[in-house]
Amino acid sequence: MHETIPALFPDTFGPEHAIEGVPVLSETAGEQVKSFMASPGFDSWTEALARVGNCAHPIRLRGRSETVDTATGEIVSAYSSEDEPLGVTHVRCGNRRASVCPSCSRLYAGDMFHLIRAGISGGKTVPEQVAENPLVFATVTAPSFGTVHTRRNGRRCHPTSRGRCEHGEPRSCHAMHAEDDPQLGQPLCGDCYDYASHVVWQWWAPDLWRRFTIALRRLFAHALGVPATRLGEVATVQYAKVAEYQLRGAIHFHALVRLDGPKTAGGFEPAPDGLDADQLALLIREAAASVRLTVPGVDVDDPARVLAFGRQLDARAVRTDRRTDDPDRTLSPEQVAAYLAKYATKSADDTGATDTAHHARIRATVRALDDRAKRAGHDGYELLSKWSHMLGFRGHFATKSRRYSITLGTIRRSRRRAQALLAQAKEDGTPVDLAALEADLLADDDDETTLVLGRWEFVGAGWHTDGERTLALAAAARAREYAREKAQQNKAKTQHNSGGRS
Ligand SMILES: [Zn+2]
Ligand SMILES: [Zn+2]
Ligand SMILES: [Zn+2]
Repeated sequence: MHETIPALFPDTFGPEHAIEGVPVLSETAGEQVKSFMASPGFDSWTEALARVGNCAHPIRLRGRSETVDTATGEIVSAYSSEDEPLGVTHVRCGNRRASVCPSCSRLYAGDMFHLIRAGISGGKTVPEQVAENPLVFATVTAPSFGTVHTRRNGRRCHPTSRGRCEHGEPRSCHAMHAEDDPQLGQPLCGDCYDYASHVVWQWWAPDLWRRFTIALRRLFAHALGVPATRLGEVATVQYAKVAEYQLRGAIHFHALVRLDGPKTAGGFEPAPDGLDADQLALLIREAAASVRLTVPGVDVDDPARVLAFGRQLDARAVRTDRRTDDPDRTLSPEQVAAYLAKYATKSADDTGATDTAHHARIRATVRALDDRAKRAGHDGYELLSKWSHMLGFRGHFATKSRRYSITLGTIRRSRRRAQALLAQAKEDGTPVDLAALEADLLADDDDETTLVLGRWEFVGAGWHTDGERTLALAAAARAREYAREKAQQNKAKTQHNSGGRS
């Protein structure tokens, strides 16, 4: 019954057995966990844990629901939380952040991967012809707000500057920083660093992005020889975008930009002739470099600023298998999807550098600017301090245009249905009908004839004790390790097999 946490026996709870990402318990908490594991309720608890896939912070609900056939009004099935081993229904927290819940975050990354992958090469109800439309992977950055310690591929950090700044700090750094050097991303001099501009830029970054997409549409229209207002008659621009924090606490945007044909009821029309992925990449670079946004200061003493993206920007064609271009310059759909999915689960506290003096000073600047804006009654900075934990960034971490791909909701509903089918087969002892499973996965939700009626009451969030949370985190870590080993074994097997053939 303890399958979910195979190696979690009482003697594995000391610092010498620490599992990455799982807090080491105090002696008292460790004792509590030991007696909990020996208690009669522990089996029920592991069952509840398994049902939420080792979620570290599940929602607890009490109530019941009936599934009704909408054609006949008949109650097809009924469910009550009283049937659950612990008397409450646990639901995954669904948090995308790895620092909050490794398990849900992993699930989210997997869903994101499929969403992005489907927008690149089709699949999951997205037609394969989408792969024929030009696609570009672009990264736009924040500008510099001051010199920070960096890694430069085996070269020294900032070797060429001379002397000291007005605060007496050296302007140069001759170190070759290691990857985990806590100095990385920290300014050479905190007093020279323009924290106010950093925060103001970050606050307006979503608007800057919007300006960028407008500039992009204008350039595309020009290249296609139509007025910008009539671009929709020949082409649409689809994108999926992810915001990523850098160590210096500024965000980058990574985006997949795809050119589709005109908007039609069916969606996914072939792109118009005249613009290939390389030309698209050029225009994206041009748009990113040209976009400007003038924003007000927080009060009369704070100047208006003209915001732009950083000079470091990248836009590259993504080739799908069916295109036969130069393989050296290509990015595969899998690479891009995995990359974006990974960053979608990170946020400010996942850069590994939340406790740095630099991040603390950014947060303090957010609060100070918020105060000043409030006192001055200046518009545009409402609720700024609410976003101090995000270092002033209020945008979404992952967004997509409506027609880029399927939605996360569709993927989640499909997975729930698949799980139900698999569970049924397991219970009946019958083999799983893969064709039926596939058909079910792709079935349109509109076809559903059942309706779920429920009355639910929120009981609470999270496990009851730190010990339970630690067990959940440990189980998630074990499951992850197990999946990794499994994947490696499969890889080794594949390599062995293909080696045997050649
Ligand atoms: Zn969770
Ligand atoms: Zn340095
Ligand atoms: Zn200085």
